[in-house]
Amino acid sequence: MNSFDVVIIGSGPGGYVSAIRCAQLGFKTAIIEKYSTLGGTCLNVGCIPSKALLSSSHHYAELAHFADHGIEVSGEVKVNLEKMIARKQAVVDQTSGGVKYLMDKNKITVLEGLGSFVDATHVAIAKADGTSETVEAKNIIIATGSKPSNLPFIKIDKERIITSTEALKLKEVPKHLVIIGGGVIGIELGQVYLRLGAQVSVVEFMDRIIPGMDASLSKELTKVLKKQGMKFYVSHKVKSVERNGDAVTVQAENAKGETITLQGDYSLVSVGRRPYTDGLNADKAGVKISDRGMVEVNDHLQTNVPNIYAIGDVVRGAMLAHKAEEEGAMVAEILAGQKPHIDYNLIPGVVYTWPEVAAVGQTEEQLKASGVEFKSGTFPFKALGRARASGDLDGFVKILADAKTDEVLGVHMIGARCADLIAEAVVAMEFKASAEDISRMSHAHPTFAEAIKEAALAATDNRALHV
Ligand SMILES: Cc1cc2nc3c(=O)[nH]c(=O)nc-3n(C[C@H](O)[C@H](O)[C@H](O)COP(=O)(O)OP(=O)(O)OC[C@H]3O[C@@H](n4cnc5c(N)ncnc54)[C@H](O)[C@@H]3O)c2cc1C
Repeated sequence: MNSFDVVIIGSGPGGYVSAIRCAQLGFKTAIIEKYSTLGGTCLNVGCIPSKALLSSSHHYAELAHFADHGIEVSGEVKVNLEKMIARKQAVVDQTSGGVKYLMDKNKITVLEGLGSFVDATHVAIAKADGTSETVEAKNIIIATGSKPSNLPFIKIDKERIITSTEALKLKEVPKHLVIIGGGVIGIELGQVYLRLGAQVSVVEFMDRIIPGMDASLSKELTKVLKKQGMKFYVSHKVKSVERNGDAVTVQAENAKGETITLQGDYSLVSVGRRPYTDGLNADKAGVKISDRGMVEVNDHLQTNVPNIYAIGDVVRGAMLAHKAEEEGAMVAEILAGQKPHIDYNLIPGVVYTWPEVAAVGQTEEQLKASGVEFKSGTFPFKALGRARASGDLDGFVKILADAKTDEVLGVHMIGARCADLIAEAVVAMEFKASAEDISRMSHAHPTFAEAIKEAALAATDNRALHV
């Protein structure tokens, strides 16, 4: 029987990063993946393919602004969806191949098949050809990720009533895509098909889209997306989703009990994701799973069984690839006797629409709820030279700082390139910067990053320069 220091179940960003870090630290490491491609949700049906389609559709949407820039396009410009999807798949294949390369380079054993616990130190791998192999491990890391959630009364047929996985490989642009759930995944994929010509309606149970983020971001994103043609039905509870041939009918009810009926040809159900432990037989190792299906862990990501850890989407916290990666590295370092730490408050959240939305730290709503006195500085992108030069005028940067100490408590931004700009805020907050610290740092001119400096100036003493 093959024996390892560490066996990792699941090759998503949590699992494969953990495997690399384990190997770097000198552990004999194996990773088990039930699919033939490595990289998990993120690389195969999540972050990477969705960003590929967002990029392709963004290029197409940009055409509408070419004339403003003095570029005249003669002849018809058409979307070739088949080619767009094929390009996306090529990006995915290349990225997944890159993970395989990294496994080989770090001498990590890759075992293909469904991993399930035999006991606390043995995992059986059921292979596609019907054979099975059992490996022994001193330590085991559960990194089995998540799957799309559903509402109990919706029958997802994967053809017309679909999840994000099918939305990444449609064969036609929907005429009317009805999206159930206005979270990050629904909004991103909604913008892809909106740009490609679909009518897009979003039904959201809460009173706003991207409800976990600062309300100001949600308001601005709604405004911009409405301008682009997306329709929103917030504070609406979906009651039924029915397919009839190629048509899908969605009925939803508002707080007053009034019903709306939306007729579409596709409905994307994006109501969140659930931790995935199907087939894992966690009980055979004695590992506790919560009522909500999560693997229970302590602050060190250790389960109730001392040699078994769990990371990523399958444990509590934000379901984000970079959170899973940090946890993967952390567990490897704990196993090596180090004392790593993750500041979960500093895990940034991003929506890759255009304008992009990004945030780190506390929202205004959270600060108010916890009674923290804070001050706020905001700077609009339209006052930036760089934004005017490119024509990306929507959005703002908002910095929230402690009223007494001036320490930055939260940074919330929507606008061009915010997905990358948020890194400055993370660095600043990691080093406990004050708003004044940021305001006194030189920011290259003209850049979008100047909005951060200006928002910091506004938060410091209400002394932004360019408004
Ligand atoms: C459409 C979409 C877009 C997204 N975009 C972003 C984004 O832009 N940024 C971001 O940070 N996050 C994004 N996410 C979320 C991100 O994909 C997840 O947070 C991330 O993949 C979680 O990583 P993980 O390693 O915990 O699990 P996963 O990536 O889910 O990987 C788990 C792996 O374990 C395997 N597995 C499960 N059970 C077993 C078993 N018993 N035996 C063997 N293998 C098993 C699965 O097959 C899978 O490959 C997106 C998700 C979706 C769906």
